[in-house]
This record gives sequence, structure tokens and C-alpha cells, in this order.
Amino acid sequence: MRIEIVPCLADNYAYLVVTASGEAVVVDPSEAQPVIAALEATGLSLVGIWLTHHHHDHVGGIEQLVQTYPRLSVVAGEYDAQHGRIPCQTRSIAEDEPLWLGSRRARVLTVPGHTLGAIAYLIEGALFSGDTLFSAGCGRLFEGTPQQMQHSLSKLRTLDGATLLYPGHEYAAKNLAFASELEPENAAIAARRAEVTALRAEHKPSVPTSLADEWEINPFLRWDEPTVIARARALGAPSDDAVDVFAAVRTARNGF
Ligand code: ZN
Ligand code: FE
Repeated sequence: MRIEIVPCLADNYAYLVVTASGEAVVVDPSEAQPVIAALEATGLSLVGIWLTHHHHDHVGGIEQLVQTYPRLSVVAGEYDAQHGRIPCQTRSIAEDEPLWLGSRRARVLTVPGHTLGAIAYLIEGALFSGDTLFSAGCGRLFEGTPQQMQHSLSKLRTLDGATLLYPGHEYAAKNLAFASELEPENAAIAARRAEVTALRAEHKPSVPTSLADEWEINPFLRWDEPTVIARARALGAPSDDAVDVFAAVRTARNGF
């Protein structure tokens, strides 16, 4: 299995997940044209579309892809299916229901918070996290509560440290600017920030990162670190509780 990064719109990523036999699914095609170009350049055949949530900058390319490649399976979560908010959806998937790509089984995790229907896909050590978990950040809470989002992030945090994170956006630079203000003494954040600055200067993606790296640099996975708890309390968190710490840091990021 291999993964191709397909930059879309201003800062979105779609991903092609490709089997050894050249079959591919695309995750979150916000627009069709770059995906079609990537498929044609490599001679891959598209067999499906996997969506993490219903926002336009993730589903915008579905209709044109379905017209271009008939018989595609279009997979999204149960909640979004019930609410009819994914165009051309052919399959609704529940948490831990089997989803196959060739001989590989993907695991689906429900991760409400950014939206109530958000899901993530884990296949062969690659996590497609949509707008739930970014490198050094997490999505805004458009529909869910801090409690739901912190629970979703704690689910992702317990995955194997070697898991590679493929998020929906290139937000690392801004996220790391916030993270270094929150934790100025954190050397891992400073090192990662320098690395991302160099990559972005060459217009290279900062993704993927490993979950083990995110444990060190992502303020939204660090609600039980004493330094983060202290900052959250200074920002107004009413207790050391994980949800209170997470919520205070998320609110501070909204205004950053
Ligand atoms: Zn979104
Ligand atoms: Fe998005």
C-alpha cells in the first residue's frame, strides 16, 4: 500500500490510498481536477471515495469524480448519511464496521467534535483524520462540545505511536506558532517549527507526522502535561480536568 498526497484548494489535502495492484481510493477530494490529474499521471484506477465529514472543502469533488469514474463506492459515516449531507453517498459506515481496500482492512473511528458526523480511517498504520486532528492542532468545534472532541482525540491518542497522521489541511505552521506560544520551553515544538518552516519554504507538505511526534508537539493531545495544565489554568480552565484543559486551550487557539 502506498499513499499519494494531492494538494487541493488553498491548503487542503486529498490522499490517494493505492494497493499493490494499482487500485486507489481517494480520501476527502475537495476538488476533482487535481485528483483526476494524479490518477492519470500514474495510471491508477479509482474504486472509491472515503469521506471524513460533510464540509464542502472535503466533499466538493465527489460529483465530478462519480461522473468521470462510474460505479465508485462513496463511503461516509452513519450520521452524515442519516442527515443526507454527503453527495452521491453509496455506503454508510459505523465504527469498527469492516471496510476493505483490496486485501487490507481499514478501521473506522467515530470522532465527533469538529462536526457531529466526523469519522477517521485507519489503514496499515496510516490515519486519515480529516479536520479532527492536524499536525500540532485540532479542528474547530463547529458542531460538537469540548467533551466530545476531547473524547475523540483521546481515542486517536491511544493508537500506536508509529501511526502516521494524514490530516485534511496544511495548518502546521500556524498551529506550531500557537503551540510555541503556549509552551515556549518545549524543545520538540521549536525543532518541529524549524523543520516545517524549511519544508514550507520549498512548498513541500509537512505531512505525514507520526503520532509519537504529535504526543510531544500537539497541545490538543497534551491535556495531562503539567505545563499545559498550568497554561490552561492561567487561561481560565476551572479545573485540571482533561476536558477543561482542552476547552481552555481550544478557546485560546480560536482567538490566535
Ligand atoms: Zn471541516
Ligand atoms: Fe476542512
